Amino acid sequence: MVDVRKFDTGRMPVWCPGCGNFGILMAVRKALAELELEPENVVLVTGIGCHGRMSEYVKVNTFHTIHGRVLPLATGIKLANPDLTVIGHSGDGDAYAIGMGHLPHAARRNIDITLIVHNNMIFGLTTGQATPTTPYGRKTRSTPYGNPEHPLNPLHLALASGATFVARGFSADVEHLKELIKKAIRHRGFAFVDVIQPCVTFFNTYKFFRERVYKLEDTDHDPSDFRAALDLVTRNEEKIPIGVIYQTERPVFELQFQHAMNPPPARRLSAIRDLSKILARFR
Ligand code: SF4
Repeated sequence: MVDVRKFDTGRMPVWCPGCGNFGILMAVRKALAELELEPENVVLVTGIGCHGRMSEYVKVNTFHTIHGRVLPLATGIKLANPDLTVIGHSGDGDAYAIGMGHLPHAARRNIDITLIVHNNMIFGLTTGQATPTTPYGRKTRSTPYGNPEHPLNPLHLALASGATFVARGFSADVEHLKELIKKAIRHRGFAFVDVIQPCVTFFNTYKFFRERVYKLEDTDHDPSDFRAALDLVTRNEEKIPIGVIYQTERPVFELQFQHAMNPPPARRLSAIRDLSKILARFR
């Protein structure tokens, strides 16, 4: 029997009651448990924003990094120890604003990590300013006359950058999201999952999305068809698809470093038994 508690730190989340982050947290814990991963073999990297609390609530190795730098950290960890399952969590402000420079490069390199973006289309932690995915015309703390900018399309960007796994989930459908996250973790290469995550306090989108989302599994969409995937994410339609939008295979970034990976850096360090000289440098 799958024991989700294995991935529960026991800490009580401080998110606002009803926050979409709860759904993502449950989906991640369940996905890790069902994949039968061991906590010591998983690393979760989080950035700045309400999503960042994930690193306190999932019982694995965690690294809570500075704003926008989830992907460089996750890339370094994977290169240092390719045996680890590395999952990055970022918010839409974290991933698509200050950290935007890293997404296209992680995608084109095809580093074997998973990036889950908690996309609530608002800066929640700083009390409701516009992010790159806030809809045009939306009034926020930073756009009191309406957002003058048109929103970024992260799925289009990921596809155009060469991501080999592109998906969208909805935090209110935990079972569906759990299956998406399992597929993303199993995927060998850069797996990008943009998750619609309503912020009940500053931008409550539950009703809007509940009325519009539909599952790609219920359609004849072929995730191996790049043109179909592009069409799907750029089509201006009333309904919003969730599921695997695109998936393909390409050699992973780690393979380019075979010359330096025998053994990988993390295992070389573990071979050093006496760390006193290294530690002395930091006294
Ligand atoms: Fe969630 Fe929004 Fe509250 Fe942050 S401010 S915890 S995103 S509901």
